[in-house]
Amino acid sequence: MTARVHLERDGTIAVIVIDNPPINAGSTAVRQGLMAAIETLRTDDTLQGAVLIGAGNTFIAGSDLREFDQPLSEPQLPAVIAAIESCAKPVVAALHGAALGGGFELALGCDARVAAPHTMVGLPEVTLGIIPGAGGTQRLPRVVGIARAIRMICAGERMRAQAALEAGLVDEIASGDLRATAVAHAQRLAGRKQRLRDRAVPTADDASVAQASAAALKAGQRRPAVQAAIDAITATARVNIDDGLADERALFQQLRVSREASALRHQFFAERDSARHPSLDGAVPHAVERVAVIGAGTMGSGIAIAALEAGYPLLLLEQDAAALERGAARIHAHLASRVQGGKLSATEAAACEGRLQTSLDWGDLARADLVIEAVFEALGVKQQVFQRIDAVARPGAVLASNTSYLDLDAIAAATSRPQDVIGLHFFSPANVMRLMEVVRGKASAPDALATGLAVGKRLKKRPVLTGNAFGFIGNRLYAAYRRQCEFMVEEGAWPEQVDAALQAFGLAMGPFAVADLSGLDIAWRMRQAQAATRDPQARYVHIPDRLCEAGRLGRKTGAGYYRYTEGAQGPQVDEAVHQVIRQCRLEAAVTPRHLGDDEIVRRALLAIVNEAARLLAEGVAERATDVDVVLVNGYGFPRWEGGPVFWARERGAVALQQDFARLARLSGPGFVAASPDDLHRLLATGN
Ligand code: NAD
Repeated sequence: MTARVHLERDGTIAVIVIDNPPINAGSTAVRQGLMAAIETLRTDDTLQGAVLIGAGNTFIAGSDLREFDQPLSEPQLPAVIAAIESCAKPVVAALHGAALGGGFELALGCDARVAAPHTMVGLPEVTLGIIPGAGGTQRLPRVVGIARAIRMICAGERMRAQAALEAGLVDEIASGDLRATAVAHAQRLAGRKQRLRDRAVPTADDASVAQASAAALKAGQRRPAVQAAIDAITATARVNIDDGLADERALFQQLRVSREASALRHQFFAERDSARHPSLDGAVPHAVERVAVIGAGTMGSGIAIAALEAGYPLLLLEQDAAALERGAARIHAHLASRVQGGKLSATEAAACEGRLQTSLDWGDLARADLVIEAVFEALGVKQQVFQRIDAVARPGAVLASNTSYLDLDAIAAATSRPQDVIGLHFFSPANVMRLMEVVRGKASAPDALATGLAVGKRLKKRPVLTGNAFGFIGNRLYAAYRRQCEFMVEEGAWPEQVDAALQAFGLAMGPFAVADLSGLDIAWRMRQAQAATRDPQARYVHIPDRLCEAGRLGRKTGAGYYRYTEGAQGPQVDEAVHQVIRQCRLEAAVTPRHLGDDEIVRRALLAIVNEAARLLAEGVAERATDVDVVLVNGYGFPRWEGGPVFWARERGAVALQQDFARLARLSGPGFVAASPDDLHRLLATGN
């Protein structure tokens, strides 16, 4: 037996302890240890049954994904489960913390499951581009039925112990000591096996299976793993379990080595690492018990909702009673709609309401451990607000600004404690979007930054650390991308063609539809502000300015890159826009040419990669993979493509060098190409 698994004896019951910190991930060593322990159970006549339990605070929270890039080593998980099932003595899984993926499949291979009250179970494999490969698709439907299994597996649904008990996936909830309860359960079972493999699959009605499949395919964007999971689950109605298990395993192996699964694993690790920064090693996050948000506008109320739903007592402060009232009303309406949609219980919503305090009195800020400012985007206003915060906040409180483009150092300079000032850049809608940039000002203390990252995690965000540069990481990458898309329109592509090509690649929306949605005037004002300092030689596409001058500010004015008419389905292509574009091409002396969808997607991605290499060289991004986390979680980049850095690494240095030479040539004067060294750094794996 290896050190990762050991066997203790409790009378006639073997307690097999899985000890692979921090999350008891299922690895080769764990599987070897389990095999040896089951063999002991089988051959030792003094033992009548066993309990499988995790050391520390969890059962097996998932498989060790690092092993998934190579051929899997023996024994593989199906063999471990087969050993448990073929052993004549009962095995009880004692679950606490998380029993996910392979961990839950192992539990489903046991004769019974006993769970501590807060346990979370589920099969999230599909979200990683694979399917459960150790019987999950075959055993789960035998308990919950085919339609429900499709819903659970395809969405990677996680279930709490009580819900799992009601669904029959857990046999008992341990009100007291988990291990003792599981041992007692195993003793009661002695001499009996009750394997899920021996159960008949409940008869399913075709309509509900078809409905569950269609809904899963739609929600899962028709990704291959969703279809494979449906195939494996529905097969349970037709084939015996051994054939079903063999077919499931074959599908799993095929998907495991697919490009999509490897891209999703890349994103998984990038997200896991984004909140742990080597440059913050040793930093200690402050305890944050109370949060205050200043400004109850679009962002302030969204941030308030996120904080309330994460369990923080929250103070919402305004300068304006009517704005405060509107913000509070938005929060109430949101909570009510969540209850109506079955996403939140009435009790939870009431608890959120109970934690909300609204105020016009700045003195109330004194009790907050974290203050998040979300007032108008104007430096003078923000500096004044920070002066007022500084006067009342308690020493050591972290003071954060949600600014999108202002200089954090200039904001921090308005206080007597710039070391406590950080940026927390949320994305709209702030209670929905996962991305949160944590901005490091020149004086920001590591502890304050670590606090921002820790709060981000509690808010269920993907926090990414960024330097204090114009646009931080996300908006700067996005600006480079949008600019390149404007170049392509000037050169001959229509906006709808660019949007369609990028949407077909997997982006949630194309750049011109996005521009219409957020309003063309924001970027217009910004270009006007920068006009004096712009390099007069640099290529400048006049199309968006012309649209704004014509009053086409996007959806809110009924027209932008597209026309929006009441009753019409979404954006309409508008000949008037084509006219503006033709005119601009003429003035720029451009002879329009055809751009293929491949070129459009490649140039858009290359523009992002080029800017990412520059951000890394400037130290704004500390890690290349953070770029992928930013794009996927804040800008609708398809997760299954891994992110632009993943894409670039796959394309390889040689092809990219050629791509960049062409990109620079096509982009014309003013385009700043990343140096070969910077590009090399971006491509270097392992960071
Ligand atoms: P908003 O206009 O909807 O809300 C701003 C609120 O701040 C208003 O309710 C206003 O009454 C209040 N306010 C203004 N001055 C104040 C003061 N001195 N004291 C207290 N309250 C004051 O604006 P928003 O869209 O929520 O943006 C807020 C901040 O968030 C800006 O810095 C913006 O750049 C940033 N941001 C916005 C978005 C977005 O998509 N809207 C995204 C990311 C970041």
